[in-house]
Amino acid sequence: MNAYTDKAEVGHFINGRKATGGTRRQPIYNPAIGTAARDLLLGDADTVEAAVAAARAAQPAWGDMPPIRRARVMLDFLSLMNRHRDEIAAMITAEHGKVFSDAQGEVQRGIDIVEFACGVPQLLKGDFTDQVSTGIDNWTLRQPLGVVAGVTPFNFPCMVPCWMFPVAIACGNAFILKPSERDPSPSLFMAELLRQAGLPDGIFSVVQGDKVVVDALLTHPDVRALSFVGSTPIAQYIYETGAHHGKRVQALGGAKNHMVVMPDADIDQAVDALIGAAYGSAGERCMAISVAVLVGEVGDRIVPILAERARALRIGNGMQPEVEMGPIVTRQALERIEGYIAIGQQEGANLVVDGRGHRVAGHEQGFFTGGTLFDYVTPAMRIYREEIFGPVLVCVRVPDFAAALELVNAHEYGNGVACFTGDGQIAREFSRRVQAGMVGINVPIPVPMAWHGFGGWKKSLFGDMHAYGEEGVRFYTKQKSVMQRWASSLGRGAEFAMPTAK
Ligand code: NAD
Repeated sequence: MNAYTDKAEVGHFINGRKATGGTRRQPIYNPAIGTAARDLLLGDADTVEAAVAAARAAQPAWGDMPPIRRARVMLDFLSLMNRHRDEIAAMITAEHGKVFSDAQGEVQRGIDIVEFACGVPQLLKGDFTDQVSTGIDNWTLRQPLGVVAGVTPFNFPCMVPCWMFPVAIACGNAFILKPSERDPSPSLFMAELLRQAGLPDGIFSVVQGDKVVVDALLTHPDVRALSFVGSTPIAQYIYETGAHHGKRVQALGGAKNHMVVMPDADIDQAVDALIGAAYGSAGERCMAISVAVLVGEVGDRIVPILAERARALRIGNGMQPEVEMGPIVTRQALERIEGYIAIGQQEGANLVVDGRGHRVAGHEQGFFTGGTLFDYVTPAMRIYREEIFGPVLVCVRVPDFAAALELVNAHEYGNGVACFTGDGQIAREFSRRVQAGMVGINVPIPVPMAWHGFGGWKKSLFGDMHAYGEEGVRFYTKQKSVMQRWASSLGRGAEFAMPTAK
């Protein structure tokens, strides 16, 4: 175990060392057990000021360092991440609740981005045109923004920060992370690993906190850009406030991901996909499938099997290897999810499996709920329109492919989407016409790999660029164009007309 998880109080990491700051505290729970062993120190504007000052002082030298030397620090960080991957996964399970194997997968997907960031010399290579005019060359290069910040959600406390800081830092920026209050330990642990990898003090800081810290980052004149991942109302607030303060912002929001099942789909494969994607991580994934769109007679065939599988889910403490679904992150989130199940009943949906009130022997105080399945849900219902963010799968029945596509496209969210079919033409039409940022064909959770970039459409993303991949490099750098000529090719006399190639 590391120093952070043994501590009764969890604080910040600023200028290469642990730090205090702020006077308010909030408990950190183990959701499987339902008790809080530690308190989180919530930072304030002064804490943010200290992190920004350290970042501002360190960034010019880091940004000036040859990219290959920054990449070598990333390579050392990569090997430390690989060495400590299971420790990080255990921290995630202890604070988030997801099962250990899922937490291991999350850490791996974070490590993938670190690997991608190790290629930064190639990614920062500019363009060059020889002889744009006689004796004149023109090239473009990308330079770091300076001090940038990230605000991340509870559901991926390692992977989502890794969507941001490895790329930002490798590009030459200093990065300040404000992780979720629910599960702050992986971020602090990664800060310590970055220090061990040789990252200069001040280039990566972690400031714990809530809206107070976020607002201080959003309004700070020296923070040039902010990446956000979380719920849609907060994403919109971050986007608007950041833009108002002249910052570059990418703000990834919530989701209501649909999976269309065509009559010609492999039903066993579709059932496995729906069960894993709806109930994995207790549905607390922005790419979880929360709506099954059942086309034609598929509904009658698939719903009874889904019900049987949902009832059979093995639910418990995520550290037990046989467990498939852990607890919900907080008691408030559990109450919100179970509240939605009551709403669905009142709205007249058919509650096929009711997960409410699930008890796990030996974990009576844990925040558990079972898998819930609704059938005959209609687009007007709140359980269809709103993000529940829990293990609740709603089934909507539609007559044909055109109706399925229309349904998906009319939804206000557009993060991930999937279509299960055996027909290549349907698959092609679906992927071309669907209004969502990430599409899976017979793949339920199409989270793009590190070099492709992640992002939704519509209310699932505010801003222009997706996270990580080459979009991430563009987000964390600004382009400069240089045009150069030397005395030997200088013309004589002032030019008053727009210069053109000569
Ligand atoms: P959240 O919006 O409550 O919190 C996200 C972050 O914002 C946290 O760090 C939190 O401290 C901060 N925050 C909360 N309220 C704030 C406020 N009023 N002002 C400023 N900052 C505030 O989200 P969450 O509950 O941690 O995470 C779940 C949500 O995140 C879901 O909606 C999920 O879909 C979304 N999510 C989206 C993606 C994506 O890639 N699109 C990925 C993961 C999670």
